[in-house]
Amino acid sequence: MGKIRVEGLKKSFGANQVLKGIDMQVKEGEVVCVIGPSGSGKSTFLRCINRLEDITAGRVIVDDQDLNDSKTDINKARENIGMVFQHFNLFPHFSVLKNIMFAPMELGKMNAKQARETAMRLLERVGLADKADAFPSQLSGGQKQRVAIARALAMNPDVMLFDEPTSALDPEMVGEVLGVMKDLAREGMTMMIVTHEMGFAREVADRVIFMDGGYIVEEGPPEEVFGRPKNERTISFLEKVL
Ligand code: ADP
Ligand code: MG
Repeated sequence: MGKIRVEGLKKSFGANQVLKGIDMQVKEGEVVCVIGPSGSGKSTFLRCINRLEDITAGRVIVDDQDLNDSKTDINKARENIGMVFQHFNLFPHFSVLKNIMFAPMELGKMNAKQARETAMRLLERVGLADKADAFPSQLSGGQKQRVAIARALAMNPDVMLFDEPTSALDPEMVGEVLGVMKDLAREGMTMMIVTHEMGFAREVADRVIFMDGGYIVEEGPPEEVFGRPKNERTISFLEKVL
């Protein structure tokens, strides 16, 4: 049974149908990279997987909880789903440490001592223990994004969603963020990653999904999707980006 199950997912904004019927599953511990041209619906798809968007049709089930069922406690379900965005969205007026401590304390998952210990452990894990007392404005883009990842991990999620986590970074900072994500993948985190980093996808993904025009057009192991793409649209996209 899939950790994430998406069945017949459709999403429209007014008359604009952005997701036109998506079926897929992500197994526990699987790393799925989502690639595709701008406007193909990748972000919308990811946002439906923690119900940042209400869906128009179909079902999204994470850990056996149907996110769009009125009986589901969506806030509780979301605690289990970490999300990292292109723009880090850190709280500017909080220190790095407090950024990470905030959600677990606010949601009553940890007391201050536990939250601080967790935050320090996570900062060490992303290589930023010395920045605990810094403010976001004092960090580089790569450091901010590593804090954002630590912050998402503080809730101890079972699933992590990443939407182009390195797209806003200067090139020299991409590697440090991808490195943290590689560690997470190695440790068995279930991850869905929208990315333009084809080298990363090739190396880390168990499966690559190519989206175009609101559909999954092609999917498979990276060596197949990158090495022997079958669909015309995949071929033409990869010709442009590789
Ligand atoms: P991608 O991430 O692949 O670039 P998006 O999911 O961001 O694609 O966008 C797909 C389409 O959905 C675009 O046409 C975009 O304009 C539209 N869209 C996305 N979010 C909204 C929104 N909140 N309101 C209206 N249209 C939206
Ligand atoms: Mg996007």
